[in-house]
Amino acid sequence: MTDCIFCKIVSGDIPGDIIYQDDEVLAFRDLNPQAPVHFLVVPKRHISTINDFQPDDAELIGKLYLAAKNIAKQEGMDESGYRCVMNCNDEGGQTVHHIHLHVLGKRQMNWPPG
Ligand code: 5GP
Ligand code: ZN
Repeated sequence: MTDCIFCKIVSGDIPGDIIYQDDEVLAFRDLNPQAPVHFLVVPKRHISTINDFQPDDAELIGKLYLAAKNIAKQEGMDESGYRCVMNCNDEGGQTVHHIHLHVLGKRQMNWPPG
């Protein structure tokens, strides 16, 4: 997707504070962090929203969570805890239409979310 900001971070066309990558997954720190640790885990392949998930994407979606928990451990918040959130469309709070798992930690999270 040529006009997708996260595809541009994947391709290196715009910079990102990248903390992990493999063949299918990229993780980078959020530009506007909402917690002392806030990073995003994205598939390198463009998928717009959760609504676009296909059965063949199941393994890739699992890999987002595996990356999230490995990075959370590296960041030293596996025991204290952290929150993983994936927003979908307007009322879900999604502003970038390339799916991304938010991982937030190093502060107390509240419930219900805003
Ligand atoms: P959403 O609202 O779609 O769930 O989350 C989008 C997130 O992407 C926001 O937390 C926002 O701060 C982050 N973001 C938007 N543009 C950029 C960017 O260019 N670089 C990085 N690192 N994060 C971005
Ligand atoms: Zn994209």
